[in-house]
Amino acid sequence: MSEKPTERRTSALETLKQELLDDHWRHCYSWKGLSPVKIAKQQGCSPDDVRSLMFEIQKENPPKPKANHRKSTCKYCGAEIVWIGKHPCDPPVLKGVTADEKVHAFRQSHFATCPRANQARKSS
Ligand SMILES: [Zn+2]
Repeated sequence: MSEKPTERRTSALETLKQELLDDHWRHCYSWKGLSPVKIAKQQGCSPDDVRSLMFEIQKENPPKPKANHRKSTCKYCGAEIVWIGKHPCDPPVLKGVTADEKVHAFRQSHFATCPRANQARKSS
């Protein structure tokens, strides 16, 4: 089985596109910190290829502000919770101050307020 060079090139770009999408775009919906030139060098393609991939990804996957925050309800107490990664949190966004006096927004873990936290913790 011999692949035509153009096919191999296309599939390499497809792989790159998937990686860019899964490893980067879906996390922050921006290309901050990514350099098309650097990626092009690693992949052996042209920066324009990378830029057009980025453009396609942007177009096909428009940013959803709460994409990482899946809303659902706690199956133990029925309260509304927001999933941040694998952590169930309470919906209100709180403001806290770190040790070096920087203000940061955070959500409190639902385990802190869930009346049935022990049960919830054990099964997670
Ligand atoms: Zn709960």
